[in-house]
Amino acid sequence: MLEGKIAVVTGASRGIGRAIALEMARQNAFVIVNYYGSLEKAKQVKEQILKEGGQAEIMQCNVADFKQCELFFKQIVKEYGKIDILVNNAGITKDDLLLKMSEEAFDSVIELNLKGTFQCMKFVARTMMKQRFGRIINLSSVSGVAGNIGQTNYAASKAGVIGLTKSAARELASRNITVNAVAPGFIHTDMTACLSQRVKEDAEQKIPLNRFGSPKDVADAVVFLASDRASYITGQVLHVDGGMVM
Ligand code: NAP
Repeated sequence: MLEGKIAVVTGASRGIGRAIALEMARQNAFVIVNYYGSLEKAKQVKEQILKEGGQAEIMQCNVADFKQCELFFKQIVKEYGKIDILVNNAGITKDDLLLKMSEEAFDSVIELNLKGTFQCMKFVARTMMKQRFGRIINLSSVSGVAGNIGQTNYAASKAGVIGLTKSAARELASRNITVNAVAPGFIHTDMTACLSQRVKEDAEQKIPLNRFGSPKDVADAVVFLASDRASYITGQVLHVDGGMVM
């Protein structure tokens, strides 16, 4: 489905990003597996892809850092000549109630989830415009659509990602570049592993399909949006949340 495509997946060392990288490689894309702190895990993702007969390389970049992002995308274009697909997946949570939330918790979540997405799109846009082709998929969240207690920082960042997505979709459409967002609900990853049993059970009750999703559930939606089957879809938010938000 993605033969000949160069795909960059940010935060692909673990969780949803890892699943996206694996699925894209299974669909024959060459995948750049971005990581920040988890070098060993990124290596394992690459090894898994190679074992399955796919193609991948790992590249470190702190997506929250403007200058590093610029160099990261320059380096990829220099080495591979193009970038067809960008998945802005890298993200963090630093949950706290509004009254207790520190400035650092607010700023760091916005810096990576929102500004990181902005700068990756900015630094890939010129390349995709020249190619007259591009697929950008941004990871939002149900929290960004419906809000969530203890997540004013995260929900603001993920709501912002939807605004970025729709604006960029309008700006880039004439060059055959689509920009969409995926809004997962509760997905089994390190990010949700720290939730207490009580919170998990409460959450499951709010999900019509009555279970947490898997990273592959999200990866399948992302691969679809990156494929030719989604070539007339842009500026949309695809919910992968078991029906949580309708
Ligand atoms: P995760 O398991 O915590 O993994 C986070 C990934 O982001 C890791 O690969 C990590 O890489 C990377 N990362 C963190 N800081 C980075 C930085 N500064 N630069 C580059 N990469 C960085 O998270 P996840 O659950 O897979 O979430 C992936 C995305 O889906 C996030 O945007 C998240 O907000 C969104 N999402 C998740 C859920 C859920 O239920 N899990 C729900 C809705 C939305 P290193 O370890 O190498 O640093």
